Amino acid sequence: MVALAEPTPLRLYPLLPETKPLPGARDAYGRAMTYLRISLTDRCNFRCLYCMPALGMKFQPRDELLTDDELLRVVGLCAELGFTKLRLTGGEPTIRPHLVDLVRQMKAFPGIEELSMTTNALLLGRIADDLAVAGLDRVNISIDTLDPDRFKLMTRGGRLDLVWRGIEAADAAGMRPIKLNTVVVKDQNDHEVGEMAALTLDRPWQVRFLEIMPLEGVGAVHDEGLVTSEATQARLEARFGPLEPVEADAADPARLWRIPGAAGTIGFISPVSAPFCAACNRVRLTADGKIRLCLLRPDEVDLRDMMRAGADDTALLQTMRGGIWRKPWGHGLAEGERETVRGMSQIGG
Ligand code: SAM
Repeated sequence: MVALAEPTPLRLYPLLPETKPLPGARDAYGRAMTYLRISLTDRCNFRCLYCMPALGMKFQPRDELLTDDELLRVVGLCAELGFTKLRLTGGEPTIRPHLVDLVRQMKAFPGIEELSMTTNALLLGRIADDLAVAGLDRVNISIDTLDPDRFKLMTRGGRLDLVWRGIEAADAAGMRPIKLNTVVVKDQNDHEVGEMAALTLDRPWQVRFLEIMPLEGVGAVHDEGLVTSEATQARLEARFGPLEPVEADAADPARLWRIPGAAGTIGFISPVSAPFCAACNRVRLTADGKIRLCLLRPDEVDLRDMMRAGADDTALLQTMRGGIWRKPWGHGLAEGERETVRGMSQIGG
């Protein structure tokens, strides 16, 4: 008789070596969502030509927007899901009432490691210190030109001197590194990218050049005004010589470079010519309480109506997890997808 070997006990569980649970809610492609961009309002005190149409802009009635309590509830649930980074945006976040209190309360949620804001900085000069004390870590400031007349044209009425004061106030309040966002638009400010980049020569700032995206109301501005990052880089290299690559965080959509010897860095954000969807770790919360799964796709998960109908936290968390699981793979611009319902200011850029 052949002696049978002792059977190896089946090890059905655990199949994988023991690991700590991964942070963040996962989508079906395995991407962990850890970064929430929060639109505090759909309103803005500028009317940038690549963001809003000249006429016919409609804003939502205030009772359709999340109240402070509703907003904080959603942010707290996101913290529970494993989100670690928050960015306040809009519309213009600095015109939201109680902003300093909201910052303080959001930063206090366990697990929230970084709280930042994207702003046009018009009002920042007055509130930068209070925001820093409340817990705002950093700001990205949108500024497309250093020429006051052109600034007025591109923002349809904005004052560059006040914005510059806002940038200086953020710097003085210690919100570092200061990042400046410049949307490059053909025949508007593309000839000025060298002046913007030159700001980094003696300042430890990051100047980022963005490709214009085709959102609702500004599709034609995109079609006529797109300047690729490659073209912007070529223009900068013609002036400053070859840029040096700088290592960036893998989840950062900006590819970083430096003018040799400069104190700061230059970033290129290229959603049109080089999409970064594979590394996407973010979802957005619109001012009216929808989780927007991808900037350029209409898929949204409504939380406001659920909350107003009395849903408990368990139900909300389950809906959020299920929604995030369905996050689209990518924005599909290359396949001709267009956002035709919401503009950037309504989604939260
Ligand atoms: N009002 C704030 C500001 O100006 O920074 C925050 C909201 S704004 C919608 C956020 C960012 O989106 C800004 O840096 C703006 O330049 C950018 N943006 C707006 N429309 C865009 C578009 N069509 N393509 C690319 N970026 C856009």
